Amino acid sequence: MSVSSKIIAVKQALPAGVELVAVSKFHPAEAVREAYEAGQRIFGESRVQELTAKYEALPKDIEWHMIGHLQTNKVRSIAPFVSLIQSVDSERLLRLIDSEAARCSRVIDCLLEVHVAQEQSKSGWEPEALLDFVRSGALATMPNLRIRGIMGMATNTDDEDVVRRDFKQLLSIKEMLTPHFDSAFDTLSMGMSDDYPLAIECGSTMVRVGSKIFGERK
Ligand SMILES: *Cc1c(COP(=O)(O)O)cnc(C)c1O
Repeated sequence: MSVSSKIIAVKQALPAGVELVAVSKFHPAEAVREAYEAGQRIFGESRVQELTAKYEALPKDIEWHMIGHLQTNKVRSIAPFVSLIQSVDSERLLRLIDSEAARCSRVIDCLLEVHVAQEQSKSGWEPEALLDFVRSGALATMPNLRIRGIMGMATNTDDEDVVRRDFKQLLSIKEMLTPHFDSAFDTLSMGMSDDYPLAIECGSTMVRVGSKIFGERK
């Protein structure tokens, strides 16, 4: 199946209210263009250099999401154009995004990445630390950020019960945080190629689908 027929198939099966981020990392700009021509406008990348190169090469009405670990020294190069940074995992990074957003007179949308998976390697705030941070009120000092919700990943396992438990935990963290934000806090980004139908059952509003659309990455 072509990229365009796969993207159309994935999109048609999504319920209303669930956004599709097409994760194009490691795939060439031509593959993004094919998905774009099939109507897709939101793309996710995990590395700053690749994100910037694709932004420059492709139509300017694409919404680019940063979904991979973001080093503080790389924020400046994406601040002018990034549409959503999904992988914000520290106060230091938040403060830096806020000041870079101010430098380019923007308000940058962010998701707070939460760590619930069993793997140590996965990044993100520990749930308790995130709740403490949000309750501290520190975000009020960062006017150039708009916190849109949270992002997370489930444990990498075939055990559906474990994956479901992780997704339900992400949903409950989002619900605990909601009273601390205004109505822009509406996004629960969870679900990838292998688990997004389950993520949607558990309340996902944004799925990040890569290999199912673009094929295996090298
Ligand atoms: C690569 C990646 C995805 C997409 O993974 P697939 O399994 O190819 O769908 C989603 N989210 C994040 C954070 C990723 O790094």
